[in-house]
Amino acid sequence: MSTPTDSAPAAPAAPKPTRIPPIVTLDAKFFWDAADQEQFVGQKCGDCGLFTFPPRPMCPQCFSLNRQIVPLSGRGTVHGWTIPRHPAPFGFKEAPIVAVIQLEEGIRFVSNVVDCAHDEIRPDMPVVVTFEATMNNHKVPVFKPAGK
Ligand SMILES: [Zn+2]
Repeated sequence: MSTPTDSAPAAPAAPKPTRIPPIVTLDAKFFWDAADQEQFVGQKCGDCGLFTFPPRPMCPQCFSLNRQIVPLSGRGTVHGWTIPRHPAPFGFKEAPIVAVIQLEEGIRFVSNVVDCAHDEIRPDMPVVVTFEATMNNHKVPVFKPAGK
């Protein structure tokens, strides 16, 4: 059996993630478990078809308890954003873009826009989901400009 000390010096390790991991609630566990696998899923009512976010036990439209977990397209547009500069956000080298993303499915999702300079973000800019690693080996969905 091979151990790390048997071989030539290993390549330098990738920097450890500094982003704080998600706080997982019972209703949203499915969402974070999927994100760890780089899958972007949401909750849809099994009776009336309404998408709901954040996940919750009961449909706010028809009061059904019939929840369906469905894949989301991962495509949306920037509804609005802010750049929190002070105090410096923990876990980020540079202030992140914190944005409300309007998803194709009709729900809004608060996330970060990455791979985008602070002066490049625009209202209604098309974005697509991607994933970033966090501490404790988790991943969170974030968005990048479509086509990047
Ligand atoms: Zn419903």
